[in-house]
Amino acid sequence: MAPVDTFRPEPGTLPAREAIPSRYTWDLTPICRDWDEWKRQYDQLDAAIEAFKSRQGTLSRGAADLLAAFRAMDAMGALSYRVWYFAALQYDQDQRNNEFNARRQQVQILFAREQQAGAWFNPELLAIPLDTVRAWLDANEELAVYRFAIESLFHEQEHVLDEPGERLMSFAGRFNSVPHDSYAALTTADMKFPSITLPGGEQVTLSYGQYRALLERNRRQDDRAAAYRAFHKSYADNQNTYAALYNGVLQRDWFHARARGYATTLDAALHGNNIPTSVVENLIAATREGVGPLQRYHRLRRRTLGVETYRLFDFSLPLVEHDARYPYDEVGGWIVDSVAPLGADYQRQVRRAFQEGWIDVYENAGKRSGAYSAPVYGAHPYMLLNYNETLDAVFTLAHEMGHSMHTTLSHQSQPFVYAGYTIFVAEVPSTLNEALFLDLMLERARSREERAVLLQHAIDSIAGTFYTQVLFADFELQAHRLVEQDEPVTAETLNGMYARLLREYYGDVLDEEDISRVTWARIPHFFNSPYYVYQYATCFASTARLMQDLRAPATRDQAVSRYLSLLRAGGSDYPMNLLARAGVDLSQPGTVRAVAAELDILVARLETELAAL
Ligand SMILES: [Zn+2]
Repeated sequence: MAPVDTFRPEPGTLPAREAIPSRYTWDLTPICRDWDEWKRQYDQLDAAIEAFKSRQGTLSRGAADLLAAFRAMDAMGALSYRVWYFAALQYDQDQRNNEFNARRQQVQILFAREQQAGAWFNPELLAIPLDTVRAWLDANEELAVYRFAIESLFHEQEHVLDEPGERLMSFAGRFNSVPHDSYAALTTADMKFPSITLPGGEQVTLSYGQYRALLERNRRQDDRAAAYRAFHKSYADNQNTYAALYNGVLQRDWFHARARGYATTLDAALHGNNIPTSVVENLIAATREGVGPLQRYHRLRRRTLGVETYRLFDFSLPLVEHDARYPYDEVGGWIVDSVAPLGADYQRQVRRAFQEGWIDVYENAGKRSGAYSAPVYGAHPYMLLNYNETLDAVFTLAHEMGHSMHTTLSHQSQPFVYAGYTIFVAEVPSTLNEALFLDLMLERARSREERAVLLQHAIDSIAGTFYTQVLFADFELQAHRLVEQDEPVTAETLNGMYARLLREYYGDVLDEEDISRVTWARIPHFFNSPYYVYQYATCFASTARLMQDLRAPATRDQAVSRYLSLLRAGGSDYPMNLLARAGVDLSQPGTVRAVAAELDILVARLETELAAL
């Protein structure tokens, strides 16, 4: 039954915020009633920051003083969430609003002061012998809550240098961002997007957005080929510059690893989260063994598209045309239904999200693009969407809801210090919610076309979020190893490495294309955040492994309770330990193989649906 004030924006129009009924906008009053309350909280935080300075020099006195300092930090942290998000969320709902922007910046300035006022804490704690701190933890139950926080701080400390060493590192720190700043300048500020006439006669300027849209929509292969070649020409023309910049990234990482006493750049990248390097090595090895289903999918695409040659620019085209619309009011109920396997309590929380103003649904003039879930400690998570009734928008909603439930369960179960979670586990609940939602949608699909579209969506997400990211991780690891082994890094070596990877992952289903060798230069992650993307893949593998147990009636109950305890655990332990408790062991090839197994099933189903169309 549709509610009386149902609202669906006209496609292609941008409503003013005031025109959208309040049941489609978020309710921020649980954070602060109004700006007056916000101001009181802001002043309270300001005062707490000042007061915290006076604790300097007290930690070594004993457990009571250390506990008091930790609690003072928690109180500041909890206030920070409210003060920040009340301003930041309102800014995001209309970024043209200067008043909100000014308040948001005011909070940023306060945060910088908070950081300075607390800068003494870690060095002072680390100066106390670990054995002394451990004795305090054993003797004081309330302090023992902070055991993991303290142990992990000392763990990080293992690679901190003495004072002159750290001083030198801080000087070198100023060069750290040069490679990726230069990369950003070259690919945005200084980038000249080519304007070309396609063989089909259309005139296009190939900005990132236009280029992507063209590959997804244009059914003429010669148009796609022309766009692909023109778009990548500037990367090819500047390949020696890109290689030199990437060499800068690699040399910097190797400098940091060696200066801090790590055996390899990978060891250095994984130490903070205490992740064994075998996780990444196993991920890559097991994925390489599991490229069969990926190639099976591309063979199916090649056949279905009916093309004589098949190249990277043929990857994004939908196999079936089907433009179903998914009204928000209808979809909300489906999302609630889809999480039924996770139990009544989880389902009740999801229902709350829809009923209690957690979601800002539609695009409006000035609103921030994209989607996110904001973990507002002390209130509840808030989701920003730009819901446009497409299949992508529906899955984005399922995805963000997964993040929000993770936040909800973690905030309800953990003390403040562990309420947040790391990226290494963060994408598990979001992708798991998507997987559950897909199962429901496939069950309810009304036609073969719709089923085919859903299957392609799921397959593309495995291909893009898993296989592509592992290929990237493979490239990064090989490139870093070149530097670790004193091998030269040139455009030729990097191009050769990338061409080899494309062959190894896609086999002979992909026809070679000379310019594809240089497409590594297009991946900002390589330049901005080395050894980062593999985490998308490990999350995906964890989800696939969990879904195997959730789908099987014999293991479901146990799997559900283990999974929910992972969500409730927040950031209270190292990610590998948390996942292990949920039954996921990422050092085992079997976990990674779960993805290939799932992909194979989906591709087989898609083959059947397409054959019957
Ligand atoms: Zn996410």
